[in-house]
Amino acid sequence: MDIRDNHHQNGNYAELIKERLPDDIIEIIHFSQTVASELCCRLFLVGGIVRDLFLGIQNYDVDFVVEGDGIIFAEKLNRIIGGNITIYEKFNTANIVTKKGIEIDIATARRETYKSPAALPQVEKSSIECDLSRRDFTINALAISLNDNTYGELLDYFYGKKDLIDRKIKILHDASFIEDPLRIFRAIRFKHRLNFEIEENTWDLAKRAVESGIFNNITIERVIEELYYIFKEDNNVAMLQDLNKLNILKKIFPEINSWNSVYYLFKKCNESIEWFCRIGERELNIDKIFLYVMIFCYVADDKYTICKKFGLSKVQIETIRNICLYENHIIKELNKRNLTAYEIAIILKGIHNEELVLLTAISYNKKEVKTNIKKYFNNVKQVKLCITGKDIKEYGIKPGPLYKTILDKIYKEKVNGNIHTKEEELELLKVLTEKSREDELFV
Ligand code: ATP
Repeated sequence: MDIRDNHHQNGNYAELIKERLPDDIIEIIHFSQTVASELCCRLFLVGGIVRDLFLGIQNYDVDFVVEGDGIIFAEKLNRIIGGNITIYEKFNTANIVTKKGIEIDIATARRETYKSPAALPQVEKSSIECDLSRRDFTINALAISLNDNTYGELLDYFYGKKDLIDRKIKILHDASFIEDPLRIFRAIRFKHRLNFEIEENTWDLAKRAVESGIFNNITIERVIEELYYIFKEDNNVAMLQDLNKLNILKKIFPEINSWNSVYYLFKKCNESIEWFCRIGERELNIDKIFLYVMIFCYVADDKYTICKKFGLSKVQIETIRNICLYENHIIKELNKRNLTAYEIAIILKGIHNEELVLLTAISYNKKEVKTNIKKYFNNVKQVKLCITGKDIKEYGIKPGPLYKTILDKIYKEKVNGNIHTKEEELELLKVLTEKSREDELFV
């Protein structure tokens, strides 16, 4: 069904809900409807799920707004669906995660006032109209009524449906970015995720807000939280580039001089992740956010300050320090032909997946590095010894450095493919322990 469809010009979308939302969510909506009629309150589906419903994009994060008391509503609803509820008294909101893992956010319709530009807002109860008018963009300010008598009716005070059709990101009023400059990050994120345009006036106002120095009024933690949402998106490079068209990141991270290097490494890391998946690491376990933070730190001139800005842990700082210190050495060693699996294992010992992705990105045009990393994934990473120090102890050898030497010798044979089973490991252990005893006699 197309959102331009004439049949829907009257603004009832009950059919669209039925067609596009899965049964689990329809069921939640029906339970919510019952609760709303018991509490005599108006209930709406709002935000991203409505936007994506019209666009035909799968989005199963349910966002409800209740005119009344959202917390009482949420508690009553959760008694029916038996999920995991978290209540946020301060904001009059609640979150339920159903047994099937569906997230439901329930908010009390609210008005927000900003005491000063870019400050956190003051919140008070209000109507759906006010609630929608505090939102970021017209396409996110749509609501669909869920009460029995008005089920499926669209509330569209800001012509969001038209902007969905025209593929435009548009703020609701001219002071929007002054109130909350982080909406600029959101505008850019939605633009690239949805393949929309940022409406001209909206872009100009974003520019002016940045030029006025609005980002000086905002804590680095809030900026970084928003930046992480961008990191998680597929099209993150284009988003960073747009942020810098407005000089935002350049101002927030003056430690970085070469933004082109940042974009380049982001691109290459994204390609490396795809390549890793293609060569067999389908379920590559990787902390993408940390990977991209590593890129920022790797490129920065003043690495210490930028690590502090990102609030990194000691372990994370150490990982970044290691990659900066040993990157040349590792790449040089890995760029050799005909390395054995064991040699590769030694070079890449203790390396994290994020470092490996970054190394691949840095040495993108070095063929041997790629060959050896492929070998690492296919022949090295999964190889583990079945025997332990306990097995050595059974031969009456006192625990000490010899254990490591013996285990390492067995590992070498196993990773190089000369032995495979636990029995073969035990056989080799027997030979090695006998030999070590003979050596001892000769000492
Ligand atoms: P996503 O798919 O990224 O989750 P979303 O639209 O659901 O997109 P959320 O961050 O979950 O985004 O926000 C839910 C809704 O809350 C938005 O659709 C928007 O209406 C409103 N909103 C979120 N952040 C802001 C903001 N900074 N200013 C105004 N409204 C906001």
